[in-house]
Amino acid sequence: MLDKRDFYINGHWVASQGGTDHQVINPSTEEPCAVIALGSEADANAAVAAAKAAFPAWMATPVQERIACVEKLVSLYDSKAEEMAQAMSLEMGAPIDMARSQQVGAGTYHLKNFIRAAKNFEFSRPLGSHAPNDRIVHEPVGVAALITPWNWPMNQVTLKVGAAAVAGCTMVLKPSEESPLNGMIFAELMDEAGFPAGVFNMVNGDGVGVGTVLSGHPDVDMVSFTGSSRAGRLISKNAAETLKRVHLELGGKGANIIFDDADEKAVKRGVLHMMNNTGQSCNAPSRMLVQRGVYDAAVEEAKAVAEKVSVGPASEEGRHIGPVVNEVQWNKIQDLIQKGMDEGAQLVAGGPGRPDGLNKGFYVRPTVFADVNNNMTIAREEIFGPVLSMIPFDTEEEAVEMANDTVYGLTNYVQTQDGQRANRVAAQLRSGMVEMNGQSRGAGAPFGGMKQSGNGREGGIWGIEDFLEVKSVSGWAAE
Ligand code: NAD
Repeated sequence: MLDKRDFYINGHWVASQGGTDHQVINPSTEEPCAVIALGSEADANAAVAAAKAAFPAWMATPVQERIACVEKLVSLYDSKAEEMAQAMSLEMGAPIDMARSQQVGAGTYHLKNFIRAAKNFEFSRPLGSHAPNDRIVHEPVGVAALITPWNWPMNQVTLKVGAAAVAGCTMVLKPSEESPLNGMIFAELMDEAGFPAGVFNMVNGDGVGVGTVLSGHPDVDMVSFTGSSRAGRLISKNAAETLKRVHLELGGKGANIIFDDADEKAVKRGVLHMMNNTGQSCNAPSRMLVQRGVYDAAVEEAKAVAEKVSVGPASEEGRHIGPVVNEVQWNKIQDLIQKGMDEGAQLVAGGPGRPDGLNKGFYVRPTVFADVNNNMTIAREEIFGPVLSMIPFDTEEEAVEMANDTVYGLTNYVQTQDGQRANRVAAQLRSGMVEMNGQSRGAGAPFGGMKQSGNGREGGIWGIEDFLEVKSVSGWAAE
């Protein structure tokens, strides 16, 4: 079993000051695979103190030099790509090929986008020709606590660290205690990349421990959090005492609206997107809204596609899906599948229990429910497993109303070959992102939600702005 009890504070790997041991469980086998320390208050305080001390110099470092550190990080990233993929596969159950391509690949992608965005961003500029001596200066917010989840771990770590670094913030990263190993490999890369001591610090811990110390800490100027709405609420409340900035990236219950003129791959694409990462994506298209005329055919197709999705251990190569992350999630998903059946939805694929032949490991059967209505629990709650709900609709207005009838507002999807209708629907959807006809959003596009899906925007220029204050100065002398 891996022993990974140290933290990265002020440029050194250090032992915890009174933390407790925590076993990381391999969800494919249910066996422990590593032991980490859950940090104490003293550990969190030490990391914040290091970040606070490093802030003035890092803020004053020319942005080109900060960008150069991130460029160095990118150049080193590939050297640990395989180790990183193996770590994520082991700790959170991403099948190894998927971990290599999607989970690890997301890191380089985001870091490169930040480099490009930062190079084109005017950190200091005149207010406008009407007030040429007025200066608008974008300054780093200060010490940032970065709290990340287990489902797309390196995606989230790089979205936060890359943006904070080029913005000039110093930081304390607390990865999820469910998937801490990849964050520790990332900390080794930050060390090798030559960031000055204290700019980046990493402390493992859980939410009630290190997470709470960070969100309430008077020397932490902002929290950037990705995770559940439950934790988002607790963090917001705790942070309110010190009035720090809180950016939240929370859950979702995305609608995928399939009109009767959608392209022929729309249903298959929607099902496979739902199953990717074993359904553990905040932007999963978990409610498939299908126009009545093509609904029955869509249900048949969704059933066939889901039944072909194979499930297996994360260590095996191939295109299967892995287990869900832990027992709590497995039980929650089982309860929701049962609720779907109890509330009258029609189970057309999958269902309760483990897939055949998999008696150990947190494996879930790829599941499709038809004839769901939008008031059922499975249409309202984020399931975070490979479970799709199909809902029929008649009119465009009805589809938009149902898509918006949720507390969430992260990503919605539209499938139609009528461009004007697509644009009209996109304009009415209350979500931070809309993806149409299977086209992914471009490099550097902002990722984030409305309503209870959060308030932050990550990625590209918007991601950097999340870590910046705007200072307005008059009487600026000509340079
Ligand atoms: P979680 O909220 O349980 O944990 C996320 C992180 O927050 C972990 O590091 C955890 O230790 C920490 N945490 C938990 N309670 C805390 C507290 N009270 N104070 C401070 N920190 C605390 O979420 P999870 O189960 O790891 O992740 C799954 C959730 O994340 C899903 O709801 C998913 O939709 C969401 N998510 C959102 C996005 C997005 O960008 N919108 C991206 C990925 C995941």
